[in-house]
Amino acid sequence: MDDTITLDGAGRIAQLKSLAAPLTKSDIYEAVNKFIAQKQSVNSYSHSTTYDLIVDGKSYPPKAIFGLAISKLLGVTVRSEHFSAGVGSPCFVTLESLGFKINPKIEQEYKSSTNSEPKAKNKLWSEEELSEAVDCYLEMFNKDQEGTKYKKSSYYNYLASKYDRTPKAFGRRMSNITHIMMLMDLPTVSGLAPLSNVGKTQAPIIERLIAEKLNQPFIDVALIDAEAQSIINSKSTPPKPKGEENPSHTETTTKVYKRSGKVKGWVIRRANGFCELCGDKAPFNKDDGTPFLEVHHLIRLKDGGPDTVENCAALCPNCHRKLHYSSEKTSLTEYLRDFFK
Ligand SMILES: [Zn+2]
Repeated sequence: MDDTITLDGAGRIAQLKSLAAPLTKSDIYEAVNKFIAQKQSVNSYSHSTTYDLIVDGKSYPPKAIFGLAISKLLGVTVRSEHFSAGVGSPCFVTLESLGFKINPKIEQEYKSSTNSEPKAKNKLWSEEELSEAVDCYLEMFNKDQEGTKYKKSSYYNYLASKYDRTPKAFGRRMSNITHIMMLMDLPTVSGLAPLSNVGKTQAPIIERLIAEKLNQPFIDVALIDAEAQSIINSKSTPPKPKGEENPSHTETTTKVYKRSGKVKGWVIRRANGFCELCGDKAPFNKDDGTPFLEVHHLIRLKDGGPDTVENCAALCPNCHRKLHYSSEKTSLTEYLRDFFK
């Protein structure tokens, strides 16, 4: 690089916005012509998967066009990795201030191409982008509830273009959010399987954002889970943790739904000592000699389920945990709901 240009810690051109200030509309047209002459490809720039720069009604990759124009202006080769593009970036701001439109390719499905530029893979996720990812997640959830159709890829593409990551990275983040929503005992977006590799740094941030946005108590489950995951998935045997002789504690308030003892008793009686899912005998008897079974609500009371015998099943502890945590919990719950209908 020319020594009049300084790169910042991330290898990006510093002060790009003021460096680009002398660019004119005709510089952009010239860059477009050069782009066309080069058969629509510029070394080190990939085709934009997220935004179109509109020049005379035609679409061009904004980053590549800006790269050509700024290279000419500065008299050096400015490569793709020397600056970022996206809403609010010097690249977009400059093009827009010259009167050009940049449109998001919102409805386009993301195509993973082999020559796509490596996006900042290891860049730490900022609170801002995690927050917007959670916003998008909750919006998708609301659309699920309303029955409004939407494309998950539209959200991923939008976020990817704004924060200079791949749509896939945001897809994985959404699955991380599903995982944390489940830890928080909250309902999740349909078709977004949980992914537990959230990481110890991001997990508590995501949990706090969800708690804030949904006005839920912060119960600090995500960090504990992330710590456990890191030990469980560690390739080498991790050193034995010291633990805590005197664990600290906090007090929380929980909403407790009033449930009927009559319904509970009736369901236990209906089960007649056998688990209503697997059919096995209750694993042990209680002090009072009655078989131990747990009465589970098929639709949780907190999700608006009724406290009725049709919405309850008496289960062995194994099956009870299964209905909460197993990968088949949805189909098993459906089965029981049909059975007691
Ligand atoms: Zn069972």
